[in-house]
Amino acid sequence: MAIFVGKIGKGITCSISDCSEIAIRSISNEKLDSARLKISGARRSYLCKRHYKEFKKKRRETRRIDKWRWSV
Ligand SMILES: [Zn+2]
Repeated sequence: MAIFVGKIGKGITCSISDCSEIAIRSISNEKLDSARLKISGARRSYLCKRHYKEFKKKRRETRRIDKWRWSV
């Protein structure tokens, strides 16, 4: 499954709570939600490099767990 990410402007900071790194990607909250990352408010969120990595990792984990659950 392709994850849609948009390029964003400079100076936007990460939307994850307690993170103030410069964001490199914008992601819809729907997708962030499925990765179980805490975000604030808006429909679109912004992730820094570190949290974008974490997001991708969590997406994989979540999908793996779902697969297990449904294959039992
Ligand atoms: Zn961050």
